[in-house]
Amino acid sequence: MNLPYNAFQLDQDPYEVRGFPHRLYIGGQWLPSSDGGLIEVTDPSSGAVIAAVPDATLEDAAAAVEAAAKAAKGWRETAPRKRSEILRRCFELMVERSETLAMLISLENGKAQRDARGEVAYAAEFFRWNAEEAVRITGEFGTAPSGTNRIVVDYQPIGICVLVTPWNFPAAMATRKIAPALAAGCTVILKPASETPLTADALAALYSEAGVPDGVVNVLTTSTPGPLTSAMLADPRVRKFSFTGSTGIGRALLAEAAKHVISCSMELGGNAPFIVFDDADLNAALDGAMIAKMRNAGEACTAANRIYVQSGIHDAFADGLSRRMAALKIGAGTRAETECGPMITRKAVDKIDRLVKDAVNRGAKVLCGGSVLEGDGFFYPPTVLSEVSPDADMAHEEIFGPVAPITRFESEAQAILHANNTEYGLAAYLYTRDVARGMRVASEIEAGMIGLNRGLMSDPAAPFGGVKQSGLGREGGQHHGIAEFMEAKYIAVTF
Ligand code: NAP
Repeated sequence: MNLPYNAFQLDQDPYEVRGFPHRLYIGGQWLPSSDGGLIEVTDPSSGAVIAAVPDATLEDAAAAVEAAAKAAKGWRETAPRKRSEILRRCFELMVERSETLAMLISLENGKAQRDARGEVAYAAEFFRWNAEEAVRITGEFGTAPSGTNRIVVDYQPIGICVLVTPWNFPAAMATRKIAPALAAGCTVILKPASETPLTADALAALYSEAGVPDGVVNVLTTSTPGPLTSAMLADPRVRKFSFTGSTGIGRALLAEAAKHVISCSMELGGNAPFIVFDDADLNAALDGAMIAKMRNAGEACTAANRIYVQSGIHDAFADGLSRRMAALKIGAGTRAETECGPMITRKAVDKIDRLVKDAVNRGAKVLCGGSVLEGDGFFYPPTVLSEVSPDADMAHEEIFGPVAPITRFESEAQAILHANNTEYGLAAYLYTRDVARGMRVASEIEAGMIGLNRGLMSDPAAPFGGVKQSGLGREGGQHHGIAEFMEAKYIAVTF
């Protein structure tokens, strides 16, 4: 089914989200690609094509860098208070439009409405938080140890930033970069994921309405991200590359950025352990597991990918989790009753299927779900596996779907060994009533973020990011997020 530009179909009812075009957004202009090419956007709940966006060329990428360069001086010289007020207006407009934005996210990404609403609220918070941070950027002043001079450190916007984001949080992954970059005084070019470009366009229209000057934010959609990103990073005016996506692509892009010695922030893949000790509050642990596993139907970098449960609580936990998972309502994300939407693509379903079959072949027991749902759309049912071998592929790869693999453990030391047996180090979850043990284990676990008796830790006010192969740098937090978009300039003064 091919619908014209700007038209969306929601379930059986014609549903149009008008008021913003789906074009390239360069220098404040909505443009087709220079060669007229298009990328189709698919509804993952049906497999139907719902819209098309321009397929940017190298020429378009050069125009976007040019527009960002043209706007750079004006934006960096805009008073912090003014920048702050514009960011605050972005927050307010996102809140006003939250229902429309959430529906758009559900439509192109597939996630359930409740997850999409949560994402919009989270994404908007980056504007509120960075509006507050924008007026609190300070420098340093001191006397050199030799006493010969004073040391002044000034923090300046790093320059033009290329931002590349994934499909799993089409709004939040963009605002988590754009808001601090703008607060710092930088101009940006955003390259959203090809599967979810419509949300990026809707947000670009909103920034413009909030008063973000032309050229400060530019949006390029493309089916050839490699050549376009390389070309932009090769432009000496580009000084920052901020990427969120898979570790494999991130590694290749770090090598690309290294050719030009560009500052990089890399938010990459995860393989979060979720550890439940015998003394945990069972219901709290189950509530936490449902959030950590099933937010976005498991399509989250922080998703609980391996669940380790101590012997004494194992059976009650496995039984409780299976009941809750089996009860979830599966369907199109745009339907109000849906609790578990489709996966993003057929390829994603095939990967989950492969991982589940591998675990079962190595002795795992299927407690619920466990096989691909036939029919239109890209659905995999909520699944719980027990007795999962630590050697199973899913213990080492991101499942990125609604599959909860449970492995039994006996001792605290064994739990820590399991948790750290991965190249990733993004997030980890611990459930125990013994806070001293919780803090001890948290300090032993190799991860950038720990949820202690909590299944959700994302917060614009806290530094988000990973260690090991999960990335470099932090987003959000006091100073951390903005610091990624600033450069220290030291001035030695004698007077
Ligand atoms: P991906 O395949 O790595 O793609 C991420 C982005 O990179 C997309 O915009 C993609 O564009 C682009 N891209 C792909 N190849 C590229 C290349 N050669 N040069 C430049 N850009 C390129 O990841 P994904 O499947 O979209 O997202 C899922 C992954 O992101 C998971 O690994 C997840 O853990 C990770 N993630 C991490 C965080 C975090 O904060 N640490 C948050 C969310 C997701 P196309 O769409 O056009 O391919």
